[in-house]
Formats: sequence, structure tokens, C-alpha cells
Amino acid sequence: MATNRTFTMIKPDAFSAGNSGAILKMIEEAGFKIIAMKATQLTPATAGKFYEVHKERPFYADLCAYMSSGPIIAAILEKENAVEDFRKLIGATNPADAAEGTIRKIFAKSIEANAVHGSDSDENAAIEGNFYFSQIERIG
Ligand code: GDP
Repeated sequence: MATNRTFTMIKPDAFSAGNSGAILKMIEEAGFKIIAMKATQLTPATAGKFYEVHKERPFYADLCAYMSSGPIIAAILEKENAVEDFRKLIGATNPADAAEGTIRKIFAKSIEANAVHGSDSDENAAIEGNFYFSQIERIG
């Protein structure tokens, strides 16, 4: 069943470039409500745990190093059809393939340093949100 929540991270490249505000503005203007949010920095071990599903992929070690290289913003977002609509708003994984006007097209530097994370399913949105936040039902 589709839920109305997704999970996002503003990744280290976008955070360090000072693009967090502009990205959050695009997210809010697209109709997403922020119901939980924090700035933090992952350790390599925590990044490894978050991306464990990718551990067999050749870029896993690089991805964990990159995702722990600087601060990020983690947030839970609410909107009808949140997961699908947010994937549309961020665009393809590789910014070279991302549609015009998408967050990754505008802000991503590379396929790895691609500005934002967006959950790919309702199930993962719940798992990823719970990875960072507890008691979110009390917020928003
Ligand atoms: P997403 O769902 O669009 O974020 O893409 P994936 O789940 O396939 O990959 C997770 C993250 O790994 C991406 O957002 C990128 O940061 C990184 N990534 C994906 N593919 C590659 C790749 O081919 N090379 C490198 N270096 N990083 C990648």
C-alpha cells in the first residue's frame, strides 16, 4: 500500500556547496512537508550500515567514504504519493541522465556526488526514516 512519507538526505557535496537551503526550498515548493529533520555527519560505519543493500556493488567503499566525508541533512517528508513524486523531483541517479529542472540536474556533481537521496519504495522509506528518527509520529 502506498504511504505518504519518504526519506531524504542532502548529501555532503550539496551541503558543503551551501545548496541545502535552495534544495529544501524546491522540496517545499513541490508540496512536501518536512516532518522531521536534522543535520549530522555519518561515520564510515554508519554510512556502511545505511547502504548495506549495496555492499556487493563495486562503488560501495567509495560511496561509504563519500557519504561520511562531511555533514548531511536527513529528513522525513510527507505528501500524497511521496516516494514516487520525490523520485521525480530529484531525477535520475546520474545527473547526466536527469531531466531538466530536477534537483540532481541542477545541483549534482557526479553519479556518486548526486546531491540528494530519495527512498525507492514505501518499505525503504520507513526503514530509512527509522534509521535516523524515533517517535516521528509525535512530530508534525
Ligand atoms: P539512487 O536510488 O538514485 O540513489 O541510486 P542507487 O540506489 O542505485 O545508488 C545509491 C547511491 O550510490 C547513488 O545515489 C550514488 O550516490 C551512488 N552510486 C550509484 N551508482 C554509482 C556508480 O556507478 N558509481 C559510484 N561511484 N556511485 C554510484
